[in-house]
Amino acid sequence: MPVDSADVVVIGGGISGLSSAWFLARAGREVVVVDKGMVGGEASGRNGGMVSERVDEPLLIPMAVEATELWTTLHEELGHPTEFVQEGRLQVAVTEEEMGSLFAERDEALRHGLLAELVDPAEIRDMIPGITERTLGGLFFANGGHANTQLTVQAYAWALQDLGGRLYQNTTVTGLRVVDDKVTSVETTAGDIAADVVVGAAGPQTGLMADLVGVHVPVAPARVEILATAPVEPRFPIALVGNGLYGHQAVSGNLIFGGGAHEWTEVDLITSPGKPNTPLIRNIARRLAELLPGAADAPVIRSWAGVVEQAPDYRPIIDILDHPSNYIVVTASAHGFGISPATGKVVSDLVLYGETNIDISGLGLNRFADYGPDWREKRGWTPAPLRY
Ligand SMILES: Cc1cc2nc3c(=O)[nH]c(=O)nc-3n(C[C@H](O)[C@H](O)[C@H](O)COP(=O)(O)OP(=O)(O)OC[C@H]3O[C@@H](n4cnc5c(N)ncnc54)[C@H](O)[C@@H]3O)c2cc1C
Repeated sequence: MPVDSADVVVIGGGISGLSSAWFLARAGREVVVVDKGMVGGEASGRNGGMVSERVDEPLLIPMAVEATELWTTLHEELGHPTEFVQEGRLQVAVTEEEMGSLFAERDEALRHGLLAELVDPAEIRDMIPGITERTLGGLFFANGGHANTQLTVQAYAWALQDLGGRLYQNTTVTGLRVVDDKVTSVETTAGDIAADVVVGAAGPQTGLMADLVGVHVPVAPARVEILATAPVEPRFPIALVGNGLYGHQAVSGNLIFGGGAHEWTEVDLITSPGKPNTPLIRNIARRLAELLPGAADAPVIRSWAGVVEQAPDYRPIIDILDHPSNYIVVTASAHGFGISPATGKVVSDLVLYGETNIDISGLGLNRFADYGPDWREKRGWTPAPLRY
């Protein structure tokens, strides 16, 4: 006997799963979310909180544009705070090569009708007090912003529960029962949960979940790291990218910055990313002091690691499987926090209508039809040993 049943069971209480669940609950569907840990315990609660339209992945622009629009009223819709600040996203160049890329990105942004303009070093110093004198110029995306990651995940979770949705935390999905081309129930450590539709939004484990129904979804996990300083003055509300880093100043004044390198890794059904790598965090701290010499004395008070889900072309995968035909795959390829409101809307549209008016034509699983199980090795994305 199933312990529970719902119209939709969502695997994964990260930002993609919770956003999908909330949009569906708001549309009147009975929704259950299952997570092996606590909501936002993985990448969704550990990320840089950056929200922006960007042009480095042009096929993602329709999702990003929809998301930045939805973010502006999300806290009101959810009825819980997200600390979303939409004062723009500034990308600064400190080398001639980076400056060349900014010109190209500006042209691409304008081609897509985005609000993006080049700014000079004096304007940059007005925007970000204490920034290095070495900047040659910057590209400012007016619709960019940032939000508080764990608060936003929690806001979705509370809003879902406000609508009657149910959350199973510390509950691992171990199997999927398929009958006549449909998943009929999700097997978990708390018992089976019967479902009409299943959404697999398990972050780096999305591929492992799809394996359970015999479908290959190429997703490679990578560890990435990030730090927080003590609060610093003067404050700036703009999200900042430069010197190989991305980040922002939290509402509380802490600088939250992360940036390469990616370390390819492995995940299993229960792994958590564990501790950060001290040399890498030192490197991020050094680059932050170079970027913001005015804040170079701020102590690093916290650092942490997270695991991102990376598809071979660095773009999300959002698709309804052919077989079983009631299973939706959702994985964000490390863009997941910023685009999350659009992800939820798209998944909800796919469940309700089988289609969406947001252009996701570049995000289908069929683009990887030729990718066999050895694609990572061929790509050179070889996993390092797990570190706890
Ligand atoms: C350090 C860092 C910085 C980042 N910065 C940014 C940024 O600034 N902006 C941005 O847009 N993105 C950023 N990202 C990427 C972003 O965090 C992810 O793309 C996004 O959080 C993915 O969300 P998700 O819900 O798809 O996956 P996850 O957050 O990984 O959630 C998946 C959930 O599935 C659960 N799960 C897995 N397996 C099972 C199972 N068997 N049973 C039950 N539950 C299971 C996990 O416990 C997890 O909670 C960053 C990521 C990291 C790590």
